[in-house]
Amino acid sequence: MQVKSILSTFLFIFLITVPLTKSKAQEQIPFFDLWSSFKEERIKDRLFKHEDLIPMVKAYSTLPDFEVSQIGYSFEGREILLLKIGHGDTPILLWSQMHGDEPTATMAILDVCKFFAQSDSLDYFKNKIKNELSIYIIPMLNPDGAQIYKRRNALDIDLNRDAMMLESPESKILKQVRDSLNPKFGFNLHDQSAYYTAGAENKPAVISFLAPAYNEAKDINDVRANAMRLIQIMNRLVQSKLPGNVGRYNDTFEPRAFGDNMQLWGTSTILIESGYLPGDPEKQYNRQLHFAMFLDAFQNIANKRYLFESLHEYHDIPFNQRRAHDLIVRGLKYPYQQKFPVIDVSWQRTETFNSDYRKGYYKATISDIGDLSTMWGFEELDASQYEYVAGKILKGAWKDMQNMKVIDIIRSGHSWVLAKSQPDQESASKLPLQIILHERDFKNEIKISRNPGFFLHMNGQAKIYIHNGIKYELDELANILGEKTLADYY
Ligand SMILES: [Zn+2]
Repeated sequence: MQVKSILSTFLFIFLITVPLTKSKAQEQIPFFDLWSSFKEERIKDRLFKHEDLIPMVKAYSTLPDFEVSQIGYSFEGREILLLKIGHGDTPILLWSQMHGDEPTATMAILDVCKFFAQSDSLDYFKNKIKNELSIYIIPMLNPDGAQIYKRRNALDIDLNRDAMMLESPESKILKQVRDSLNPKFGFNLHDQSAYYTAGAENKPAVISFLAPAYNEAKDINDVRANAMRLIQIMNRLVQSKLPGNVGRYNDTFEPRAFGDNMQLWGTSTILIESGYLPGDPEKQYNRQLHFAMFLDAFQNIANKRYLFESLHEYHDIPFNQRRAHDLIVRGLKYPYQQKFPVIDVSWQRTETFNSDYRKGYYKATISDIGDLSTMWGFEELDASQYEYVAGKILKGAWKDMQNMKVIDIIRSGHSWVLAKSQPDQESASKLPLQIILHERDFKNEIKISRNPGFFLHMNGQAKIYIHNGIKYELDELANILGEKTLADYY
């Protein structure tokens, strides 16, 4: 009797723990760490184009469980493709790069394709996903914008304000795909400004989420609630890698936006915005996070685990705040109108491109001046113990200037050079001096939108040089520049 009881107890425990352990094991697949094995190595940076992407996507059409169809053309006649992975009863839809200069998710989508195309020890997981879900993906909805790395389409319509009028071919395509599939979940994939922090903390919003509202009242019905539930799951994944680096977008209803309308049309829609992790300009860490988030989301949709989520965690995600700058110089005693106001000065960068938009260069300008105590810089400098000295302009005959060492020009207090021509964009980006061709362009004041060069002195000696929103210790700069002359940049 006792033996039987022990046995049955053992059997009972075995029966309930084995399936639980198994499902738990499935949930703990380390998608994030697996990424490097599935990374699409042919895409290395953000500036890939339609012509790079399309052959890669089409190549999947020959594989089992993949389908690729052509669903139309952009304004300028570039093909737009729809990729399908799996054959399950639950359709979900991902669309990336409706803004042409927001490519992070597209990179991760290619990595996800590689993941599902490969056969390995995770086949049990892949088969489960393929059996439960039909994953539809439109990678690069706005190829014309991507071609010249801009947000809007060829006619400069913002596709995310064209969900009602549908005047762009790209918008029509997205609406038609949604209506024909009626997806359960939609993933609206974007990149956001580098300058958002996650709430009031001095942490960049590396990922931001939103379950868009479907009406002015911001009501929460089942469709929107399910989007919030899935966001909570993805949020936990990101927080486990980057605690405190997740933000939430304001949910003011935008009647022209796709996310808001998708929600209204009955697809639980999740906006994912890829932000900036300082030091990762090509956003490869965000790409890896997206890879993990997508697979985690697919798993949780397939096993319907999201239904067990309560909704409070979503509302605990702090709102994005636009508080970040590339550089903040604090406590600067700035000689102005015979007074010495103490000011903080910040810089932000914009990117310019070479002619084929395959390479980018950063230009910084002053973004704010005054009390910036509520702001945060990726780099900060306390200038209160230094004396500000404006950079001078070097003028003279080119034959005399060209052989001067760049470090000597800077050490002698110059931050600008009046020259007869500009170096090419690539060289100019490496030269820590501003080259101008007309003296009237010498505008070295601290003012919004300007890009002044100046020195910080201590005990009468120049210690720090500020150029193009970058802080250089002069001794370090000497090591970087070595013997380089001005002519070396031409
Ligand atoms: Zn966007």
